[in-house]
Amino acid sequence: MRILVTGGAGYIGSHTVKLLLARGHEVTVYDNLSAGHRAAVPKETLVVGDLKDIDHLDHLLLVNRIEAVIHFAASASVGESTTNPSKYYQNNLLNSLNLLDRVRRLGIGRFVFSSTCATYGVPATVPIAETEPQKPINPYGNTKLAFERMLADYAAAYPIGFAALRYFNAAGAAADGTLGEVHDPETHLIPLVIQAALGKRPHVEIFGTDYPTPDGTCIRDYIHVEDLAEAHLLALEAIRPGKGLAYNVGLGAGASVREVIRAVEEVSGKIVLVKEGPRRAGDPPVLVAASDAIRRELGWAPKYPTLKSIVETAWRWHRTHPNGYAKP
Ligand code: UDP
Repeated sequence: MRILVTGGAGYIGSHTVKLLLARGHEVTVYDNLSAGHRAAVPKETLVVGDLKDIDHLDHLLLVNRIEAVIHFAASASVGESTTNPSKYYQNNLLNSLNLLDRVRRLGIGRFVFSSTCATYGVPATVPIAETEPQKPINPYGNTKLAFERMLADYAAAYPIGFAALRYFNAAGAAADGTLGEVHDPETHLIPLVIQAALGKRPHVEIFGTDYPTPDGTCIRDYIHVEDLAEAHLLALEAIRPGKGLAYNVGLGAGASVREVIRAVEEVSGKIVLVKEGPRRAGDPPVLVAASDAIRRELGWAPKYPTLKSIVETAWRWHRTHPNGYAKP
């Protein structure tokens, strides 16, 4: 298939691009490099551009005769979304709508969307099934849910099919050591704990120790980025015009912040200093996926079934790339 991947130079995007190319797809990456990395994708696939530039986008979709779009480009920090919602509505909603309209007008029939477990808010039932009511508690989740609804309305009215993949917590790095997680500034737990283990940070702050969980810290479902990438390929093949799919993508197992810190200590053999701090705005106590639907319907089967196996790949990446990707 000829596929446009927006945000393809980012963390989950670049791992998906690698897998798409390995499976013989033709890939065009569209990325403004605000968070993505030039070195994370083969240079012949990369077009540097912004989703705001509708004419550029239109031209690319046409000349590359794109048949499917995988849309990763977005702002994705829960904390930042609570202090700068404008950025989230602009990037995640308006830019996405522009893209979707182009896709519709050109009759492109397949659209895979990076959604999130943050669309569930504080779930009434854990593990969370796709049928759980979606009631986000932060602007990031609000923007992602709003776009899911747009997709559903478009699929009902036009010959476009979509899959919304509701990621839980993406983590880990490519098994061959070529790709990994690099954010600037880094806000995600596993890389922060690893940086503390490497002596690049004095300590890790735990955001809240008074949650209603066994050790008082938040529980999340960490899923390996290569397993997420595989979910995109399976979804792409399953999409049918006029139909919408929505799947949770997580292991179905939760780990607390303290358990993540312990896993990094075990894998690295280092001690990580911890500072206990207040809760971060917008954080639900427990987010764990029921991922039976994608396993059953698409045959998805994660290759990294434990937190330890995920952290091992992340540790290897950060140890060998302490300053992220090499600058060209
Ligand atoms: N967290 C933390 N300290 C940090 C960063 C994150 O305690 O320095 C917690 C955060 O509150 C959440 C979990 O770790 O409960 C995972 O956060 P992350 O930002 O990695 O992902 P999110 O769940 O926000 O997508």
